[in-house]
Amino acid sequence: MSLANGRHYLAIPGPSVMPDRVLQAMHRPAPNIYTGELIDMVAGIVPDLKTVADTGHNVAMYIANGHGAWEAALTNTLSRGDTILILATGRFCLGWGEMATALGITAEIIDFGHASAIDMDQVAEALAADKDHKIKAVLAVQVDTASSVKNDIPALRRTLDAAEHPALLFSDNIACLGCDEFHMDDWGVDLMVTGSQKGLMTPPGMSFVYFNAKADAARDKAGLVTPYWDWRPRIDPDVFYRYFCGTAPTHHIYGLRVALDMILKEEGLKQVWARHATLARAVWTAFDTWGQGGHLRLNIADAARRSHAVTTVNMGGGQGAQMRAWMSEQAGVTLGIPLGMDHAPDDFFRIGHMGHVNAQMVLGVLGSLQAGMAALQIPHEASGLAAATEVIAGADA
Ligand SMILES: *Cc1c(COP(=O)(O)O)cnc(C)c1O
Repeated sequence: MSLANGRHYLAIPGPSVMPDRVLQAMHRPAPNIYTGELIDMVAGIVPDLKTVADTGHNVAMYIANGHGAWEAALTNTLSRGDTILILATGRFCLGWGEMATALGITAEIIDFGHASAIDMDQVAEALAADKDHKIKAVLAVQVDTASSVKNDIPALRRTLDAAEHPALLFSDNIACLGCDEFHMDDWGVDLMVTGSQKGLMTPPGMSFVYFNAKADAARDKAGLVTPYWDWRPRIDPDVFYRYFCGTAPTHHIYGLRVALDMILKEEGLKQVWARHATLARAVWTAFDTWGQGGHLRLNIADAARRSHAVTTVNMGGGQGAQMRAWMSEQAGVTLGIPLGMDHAPDDFFRIGHMGHVNAQMVLGVLGSLQAGMAALQIPHEASGLAAATEVIAGADA
């Protein structure tokens, strides 16, 4: 017998659960790409994408996953031989840095490990040491999906300003745009990248590079610009096909239109953030309580630095892998594999709670986890699930 039969739940940190309405909007014949509805739809999506990032600056759209947006960000602003500063807090900023290195950019790395946020004192030191301003850009990830840490992007801006350093500030928000609060302009972010398949609840295959005038000025000198990835023709183009340098991602656009309506018109961005915050708090409360009776714990100790979109759990003793197997085989839930935890890969798993996620989905995962702990005889404080239900019960309606 398996109790996993029934609707399977993919609780990995991207691709996230897609609303049925997004899927239904995509289930349609190909539209005309020269005139009509699609053209108007794209024109309407651009300002809504800006609203989600709270910015009045530019957004370029790409038919690519997040890695494509990474490459577009680098090639539009930098040249071979330039230096950038990578602030690594898990796996993803390192990956961005590896791509930069392959492009001939020199990536200086400060690695804060796999369970800590960026330490601004170390950044300040590195900036102060860079007296002739060789560092052209400082790259950070708001939420590192491997460690589930949430970095303090406004503090990073203040650190750059205090050092009077002219480097551009890049933020990777692929995991967390539309989940964790973000204000591109107020926070002084020069360039931000995100993708369609996480908080934006649409299939992988579209990504977005947001940039301000300072980043666009760097485009004038950037030696790595290529015709396809160039962001200039993609901004407010005179001819529709230049938005995507060729055929538009027709069906993604239909899906994204519905997803943006759900976020901005129906629920409201602030309410979306609040829902993610409360659901994340339920997850943390369960684990913090369970951990009082055993050795399992959340990867990020400081609650202020935990993401609202994804949670990385350290079960210890190889029990992360055991729990993932049990959850899939006995409860019908797929948890995320660990990333970048090479020192103890079997100890960890990740839970995605980004995008189209509600209380019953999170409580279903947490209830299943507690059943798994009992079945696998993993020591835990059994009031963890009850504590999580208290968070849900106490949330303002
Ligand atoms: C998912 C993710 C990426 C990579 O996105 P792809 O679409 O898989 O290329 C990069 N950065 C972060 C923070 C992510 O969560």
